[in-house]
Amino acid sequence: MKIAVLPGDGIGPEVAAQAVKILSALHSDALQIELEHAAIGGAGYDAAGDPLPAATLQLARDADAILLGAVGGYQYDKLPRPMRPEQGLLRIRKELNLFANLRPASLYPELADASSLKPEVVSGLDLMIVRELTGDLYFGQPRGIHVNAAGEREGYNTMRYSESEVRRVAHIGFQIAMKRGKKLCSVEKANVLETSELWREVVIETAQEYPEVVLSHMYVDNAAMQLVRNPKQFDVILTGNIFGDILSDEASMLTGSIGMLGSASLDENRKGMYEPIHGSAPDIAGQDIANPLATILSAAMMMRYSFGLDEVADRIENAVKKVIGQGLRTADIYTPGTHKIGCAAMGDAVLAAL
Ligand code: NAD
Repeated sequence: MKIAVLPGDGIGPEVAAQAVKILSALHSDALQIELEHAAIGGAGYDAAGDPLPAATLQLARDADAILLGAVGGYQYDKLPRPMRPEQGLLRIRKELNLFANLRPASLYPELADASSLKPEVVSGLDLMIVRELTGDLYFGQPRGIHVNAAGEREGYNTMRYSESEVRRVAHIGFQIAMKRGKKLCSVEKANVLETSELWREVVIETAQEYPEVVLSHMYVDNAAMQLVRNPKQFDVILTGNIFGDILSDEASMLTGSIGMLGSASLDENRKGMYEPIHGSAPDIAGQDIANPLATILSAAMMMRYSFGLDEVADRIENAVKKVIGQGLRTADIYTPGTHKIGCAAMGDAVLAAL
C-alpha cells in the first residue's frame, strides 16, 4: 500500500505524525505499507509557491490512498484566493474525482458528557453520512448574479444531478451499509424538488442490488429534526452535496468533540483521501495539545474503505476505545477525574494499546 501523507499546516503535522506512528507499526511482511510525505496548503505555498504543488498532486495520483492533516493559517489569509491553503484541498478533491464523502458521527459512551444533547440521546451514537461531493447546487450550471427584467440584481444557482452521479454515490452508500447495520436512509426533498424526485427513483433502483439493506427515505427538514431528536435511529444517511454539507456538520456536533471524528472522500475505485473533520487549529498549533484521535481514526477508515481490511480497521478503533476507557484525554475532551495528556503521548498510548 502506497500512502501519501500530506500533513499540511497548524496542528496538521502534529496529528498526522501520530497516525503515521500507527500506520508504521502496522507495517509487516503481510501488510507492506509505504509512506511518502509531501507539502499541501500553506506548507505547499511556502515550499513551492502553490497550495497544491505539482509534485504533491503527482504523489497523490500515484498513491493508493492519501492521509491529510489539515490546512490553513492566519498568515495566508491575505493571499490571492487561488494561492490560499484551502484551494489546495478543493483542487486535490476535484483532480482526484473524490465524489463520495463519508463522515461518521460516533460517540464513545465515556464522552457522552461532551455533547450538548442529553447523554441518553447520544450515548453509543454511531451513524455514517455519505454525502455526494462533486455535484448539486455547488457545481450546477448556470449560476451567477445578473440584472433581471425588472432591473434588479438576481442571484441564481442550479440544483442538478444526473442519474449516473446519483447511482455511483448510492452504490457507495449501500456498500457501506452492508459493512455496518444494513440500514440506509436516503435524504432529499422529493416533495418539492424534481432533482430529488430523480434522486429517489435512482436510489430505489440501485437498492435492488442490495436486498439485505433496509432502505428508507426522509425529507431533509425532517432529517435535520430527527438528528437532534433521536439520532440513534440512523445507520447510514445517503444525501446530496448541499443537504449533506449541513447535516454532516449537525451530526458531528452531536458528539461534541471535533477532535474525535475522521472522514473519507472516495473515488470510483475506492481510492480515497482520509482526514480529520477539524481544521488546522492555529490557536493551539505547536503546543502538543491537539487531539490526534480524529486523524488516527481516519487511518482506520482508510484500512476499511480503501483497502478492505476490516480487521485492521477494527484493531485501530479498538485501540482508541481502550485508551478512552483507560481515562486518557487530550485537553479538548478532558473532564475532571480523567488523565490529561498531550498529542504525542496520546499517539503513543494508542500505539501501546494497538
Ligand atoms: P478548526 O477546526 O481549525 O478549529 C476550531 C476550534 O476547534 C479551535 O478552537 C481549535 O483549537 C479546536 N480544535 C480543532 N481541532 C482540534 C483538535 N484536533 N484537538 C483539539 N482542539 C481542536 O476551525 P477554524 O478555527 O474555523 O479554522 C482554522 C483554520 O483551519 C482556517 O484556516 C480554516 O480555513 C482551516 N480549516 C481547514 C480545514 C481542513 O483542512 N479540512 C477544515 C476547516 C477549517
